[in-house]
Amino acid sequence: MSSPQSNEHKVDASWIGWFVGNKSNEFVCRVPIGFIEDKFNLTGLEYLKDTLNVVLEPSFDRSMAWVSGYEEKLYGMIHARYIMSARGVEDMRLKYEMGDFGSCPKFYCKGQKALPVGLSDEWGHSTVKIYCPSCKDVFRPRYRPKLDGAMFGTSFPHMFFMQLPMLRPQPPVEKYAPRLYGFRLHESALMPLESSEPSTETETETETETSTETETETEAIGSLPTSSPSSFPN
Ligand SMILES: [Zn+2]
Repeated sequence: MSSPQSNEHKVDASWIGWFVGNKSNEFVCRVPIGFIEDKFNLTGLEYLKDTLNVVLEPSFDRSMAWVSGYEEKLYGMIHARYIMSARGVEDMRLKYEMGDFGSCPKFYCKGQKALPVGLSDEWGHSTVKIYCPSCKDVFRPRYRPKLDGAMFGTSFPHMFFMQLPMLRPQPPVEKYAPRLYGFRLHESALMPLESSEPSTETETETETETSTETETETEAIGSLPTSSPSSFPN
């Protein structure tokens, strides 16, 4: 039996082979040519024929320095649709089990493997985040956060566990309890000063591409929007 991603082992000179093989694109899986060629899967996407031709190019000249962002965007938006399909979920399961998406940085999540997620389904809003299915929070990936979150979309992790419920982990058993000289601190002692105004800032993040925080340990970024999954054929 061959795995859905087994074609990666062939010598691959295509644009997709170049893009997927790029080390910084480790989160991205290979979308089968047949899925991209199926016009139904491109419904509603705006793109130029030339851009599609480059993405489908079987022998892409890697020395070309002009590679535009259009191909990445087109491939990314198709990728977001593909990983919501049964075969796409299976491809992403292999990557999840290999730990390609990293793990939750929370101590009590004990290295729980994470899945990529977008905070928006629209291109250019924010870079990809990782979702921990144990504590159900989202974080910046420790490495390579440059990919657009729309390549994965807001629904992907939830579709993943809907398709593969047996993989859903337990929530963390323990929780950090702040203590002072051994005594557990009351919640009120942990509130910021003058907390009369409810702080709603930094609830959601509208992020520009100025991410210079390469070394910041992963941090939580507000709640994850859930939108109804749109379905696509295999
Ligand atoms: Zn976690």
